[in-house]
Order: sequence, then structure tokens, then C-alpha cells
Amino acid sequence: MNPVEVAAVYLHAPFCLRRCFYCDFAVDVHRSPEPEPWWAALEAECGALASEGRVRLAPRLDTVYVGGGTPSLLGPEAMAGVARILGPGRLDHDGVEWTAEANPESFDGGVAAGWRRAGVNRISLGTQSFQENVLRWMGRLHGAEGAEQAVATARREGFASTSVDLIFGLPSTVPRDWGADLDRVLALDVPHLSLYGLTAESGTPLGRAVAEGRTVLADETRYEDEYLEASERLRAEGYEHYEVSNFARPGHRSRHNAVYWSGAPYLGLGNGAHSFLPPERRWNVRDWSVYARTVAGGALAVEAREEVEGSARRLEELWLGLRTDGGIRLAAPEGSGARALAEAWVGAGRARWTPDGRLVLTPAGWLLLDRLVVDLAGRLDDDPRPPSVDPPRPGRRSS
Ligand code: SF4
Repeated sequence: MNPVEVAAVYLHAPFCLRRCFYCDFAVDVHRSPEPEPWWAALEAECGALASEGRVRLAPRLDTVYVGGGTPSLLGPEAMAGVARILGPGRLDHDGVEWTAEANPESFDGGVAAGWRRAGVNRISLGTQSFQENVLRWMGRLHGAEGAEQAVATARREGFASTSVDLIFGLPSTVPRDWGADLDRVLALDVPHLSLYGLTAESGTPLGRAVAEGRTVLADETRYEDEYLEASERLRAEGYEHYEVSNFARPGHRSRHNAVYWSGAPYLGLGNGAHSFLPPERRWNVRDWSVYARTVAGGALAVEAREEVEGSARRLEELWLGLRTDGGIRLAAPEGSGARALAEAWVGAGRARWTPDGRLVLTPAGWLLLDRLVVDLAGRLDDDPRPPSVDPPRPGRRSS
């Protein structure tokens, strides 16, 4: 089998000073992580992948995303090491989108300057709120001013593209003025924003608190109201609500995330990282120590693999297409169950047809994404003609 060529790479930097209350990511709590062991593990994994022969890096990568964890804990030289590991020429060209995540408390001028020198051109800041009581409840280490200072630092060091994350839908027992958080984030005037609804994953302190009845998650009304309020306000201020959780000024959509939504191949390096090498999806073991030990021994640290084909592939394509404002082209005939369902969504304000005939969910529809996709897939299975699903392509610039 020929190796799959990938132009999009994710690298996971798992280290955090402590675990936030709600966090379910593949995190290694560490007081003072150093970049060398992380580089060594990534390099070892690249060596094991080369021996396997199933994937090949494109000579020029289109997108690189360093996420975590807290990559900014690894200091100013962390990204120069990433460039070395990925290989000469792959990142030093104008077309690359290279994003690195940072948390405000560890993103200072030295880190920003070092990352900029290495070639990083986009910063994604984990902010979550601008309210002290909310940040304390979440277990965040930065204060309410943290995001403003971090955005100013990024601007000073020449990052033209910065993204800020906020979490909405907190338990009603946590006093939070969502409108005030939207005011603060709008005042930052960053080109990209991501908004995530709080979920209680089992195994997290929040998940345990919910299971034991000590915390009650936001009711549906609060969750929906905050999401729709944000969408309306951000769109009124010139942001495009281009995917369930993402908003961008024109020309600032995340090209890396677009790869995930398009069904194109991508490679994930590091503990817990996922890769899609069609038709195979695989993911690494989540535990940092197990991962590092395994790759140091020359083996891949893959925890599981699955082939995404047939009806599973079709369901996934529907789900990926409908989560963006690219939508899907629904080639179901007039009078079919699928088309009737789509028309019902349009009538209920959950979807719209674009002038060129694509079906796109509205923010009200995105609140029900999973259910709508399952309903539509069920109707399509009943239709004699299969749909033509044509999600947006990777690497597309929206300017
Ligand atoms: S900083 Fe991010 S990755 Fe680290 S524990 Fe908090 S939510 Fe998880």
C-alpha cells in the first residue's frame, strides 16, 4: 500500500501545572516540564512512523497545530525544536499556517519572541472567562486580566492572527455575566474566537461532582440562550460564524481545523493524538509516560485503529459537512423523506438553502447537530438514491 501523504500535522504537548476542574484532555501534570524529553518522544514517534511506511509528510506542510496541555510551559525554544523534528523546508514557506496554543500565565514576551522566530504565525489562547470567580471555579491559573495581557504580548511580537477561547453554559450555581464576557472579548478585537459549551466528562472532577449531585450543569435554556446570544452579537460585529464553535473575521478562519472537517488526511503526534490516514483512523495512548516509553523503544504507541467506511463514513461526512457553513449538497429527489426533513428544518429556522443549493444549518440548528444528522441519515437510508455529500475542501482560504 502506498503511504498516505499528509500536509496537516497536530503535535500534542501534554504538560499542565495542574488539571482544570472540567478537563478531559490527555494531560500530564508537571511542575516544570522541559522541552527535551518532549522533542525526543516526538522524534522517536516520527522514526517509528517512517519504519511503518504508512504515512509520508508532504515536502511543504500546509498547517501545523501544536496543542495541549499547555505548550507555552515548554518555553521560547519549544517551537524551534518542532521545526527541526518536522524537517527542513516543511515549515519555512509563506503558505504555512502554524498555530501554537498558549495559556496567559505562561505566555510572556520571551516565549512569544522565540515562537515567532521559529515561524509560528498564529496563537490560540486558552482564556475561558474574564471573571475571577469563574476562573477560580474552573481551576485556571490566570486572572481576569490574563487574556488582555497575552493578546497585547502577541501583538507586540508581530502575531497578526490570534484566537481566544471562551467556555459557556456553566452551572447556574456559578455566577457568571456572559454578556460582560462577550463585551470583554469583543473589546480585544482578535480575528478568531472559539466558544465551547461546558460538558461533564466522566473521570474529571466536574464529572464526579455532577454524578454525585454536588453540581448541576446548566439547563438547556441557559446553554441555548448563551450560545445564540454569542452568535448574534459576534455576527453583528463582523465575525463569520463558520462552524459550530468557531467565529472568524474574514480571512482568519482556521485552516487546520478545516482539514478535520473536510475528511482530508492528517497526522497526530504525541500522547492521545488522533490521525486520519484514509480509510484508517487511529489514536495514540493517552498516558504520557506510557507513550514516551513505547516510542523510545522504537514502537508506535497506537492504542486503537478503526476503518471508517460504508455507512459509518457516510454518517461522518454528513456530520462534518453540516457542522460548517459549507453545509452539504443534498441530492435527494423532490418528494423524498430526506428532502422533506430538510424543508422542515428550513421552516423551523434550523437550516437554510444557499443560492447554489447547499443545505447549511443555522446556529439554532447547530445546537441540535447530532440529532439532526442521525435523523437525516435515517431518511437517506430510506431513499433509493444516495446523497452527494460534498464537504468543503482542506486548506481553503476564505479571503
Ligand atoms: S490548561 Fe487546558 S489542557 Fe491544561 S488542564 Fe486546563 S483545560 Fe486541561
